[in-house]
Amino acid sequence: MTDAALKDDERSLADPNDRVAAYTAWVSALRQGKTVKPPEAEGDDALARLGHELKLLSEAIARREAELTRLNQVVLSAEREILVEDVLDSIFKGFIGIIPYDRIGCAFLSAGGTRMTSYWARSNMGPMRINKGYSRPLAGSSLREVFRTGEPRILNDLEAYLAEHPTSNATRKIVGEGGRSSLTCPLFIDGRPLGVIFFTSQKTNVYKDIHQAVFRQIAGQVAILINKSQLFQELVERNQFLLRQAEQLTEAANRDVLTGVLNRRAFLLALDRHLQACAAAGKTLGLIMADIDHFKSINDTHGHAAGDKALCGFTERLSPMLRQGDYLGRYGGEEFLILLSEVGAAELPSIAERFRSTIADTPFDLGVAERSLTVSLGATVAHGVEQSAEDVVALADRALYAAKEGGRNRWVLAA
Ligand code: GH3
Ligand code: MG
Ligand code: MG
Repeated sequence: MTDAALKDDERSLADPNDRVAAYTAWVSALRQGKTVKPPEAEGDDALARLGHELKLLSEAIARREAELTRLNQVVLSAEREILVEDVLDSIFKGFIGIIPYDRIGCAFLSAGGTRMTSYWARSNMGPMRINKGYSRPLAGSSLREVFRTGEPRILNDLEAYLAEHPTSNATRKIVGEGGRSSLTCPLFIDGRPLGVIFFTSQKTNVYKDIHQAVFRQIAGQVAILINKSQLFQELVERNQFLLRQAEQLTEAANRDVLTGVLNRRAFLLALDRHLQACAAAGKTLGLIMADIDHFKSINDTHGHAAGDKALCGFTERLSPMLRQGDYLGRYGGEEFLILLSEVGAAELPSIAERFRSTIADTPFDLGVAERSLTVSLGATVAHGVEQSAEDVVALADRALYAAKEGGRNRWVLAA
């Protein structure tokens, strides 16, 4: 500073009019959002005291602005999240420096608003004793009061609170984790209680009115964010449930109720698909129609239930013999179809023989009796070129007829 400027400065501080002008210029600059240093407050007269108060006011406003900016950031970053967990994680990080805590937990009202269930918690204290799913009735809980007043509640000595309320299990657990102060903030959606956020500190006497006020400021937005993500999550879960149900229904619609193998419709659809693929790729498949011999006599001798058992035993024996890409279906009654992927005339006889012997070689346990069964099989190789499923089934059926005619318990390869 030059001597002349210094002199100017000294003069201006001495002259009340200049001092008022300096303060006016400073306040005006502040109002316009400029960051300027306040004039030096000289002396102890009324003007100096006013200058000092103005300085304190400007500092308070700056702090408040910084705080609002931070709160806004909490909401903005939480808004980017979709899942409840991520929203809460974002809030956990965002509140650092705004509200003191070593742990944040969040619990929602469930079961028609009668229970509080912990949903999420993050802690820098010891191992957590209140985890996701921890649930307690709202009746008899001090949280009712928090919802009634709608105001954040401060408990600045949790050990003392526990001594006064020895039945509060949640407090006992939090004290066990090392918590000594807590700030419990209720969340509302359209005036309806949604849940609470618990801030916990390992130190006593941590929470002040200002923290309540800070939370109150963004409580509404936090509640909306959490609620929005909850609704989204519900939607996702509901959607997954419906998809699973649709899958189960489709699966059930494709299955034979008694044996659980593919039903006729589903098998013929699969066969059609595979025939088209064979035609396109120049490959072949094997189709076998199998009919249990003298099946009627099982029903007649041992009853219908034993007949059912024989049918189930039959498919249970054949199923493990199939490879990936093969299909077993019930064509009707005691007739079954087997699709053998990428099988030609060379392999088909030995496969058919294995099926025949597997059935014939070991008796079946029908509950009321043990009984040997035999099966007749008609086999054909298909290439899929201008061949429908019905065409191929008809070929296998004709071969099966020949096997029956030939004396049963045998296989015949279609000409
Ligand atoms: P073949 O050696 O000529 O094939 O004689 P079969 O007795 O096996 O053939 P038939 O067509 O005369 O009889 C089939 C029997 O299968 C008649 C029917 O009551 C029985 N059946 C069909 N579906 C079921 C079922 O789901 N459960 C039971 N227990 N029996 C069934
Ligand atoms: Mg039959
Ligand atoms: Mg039969």
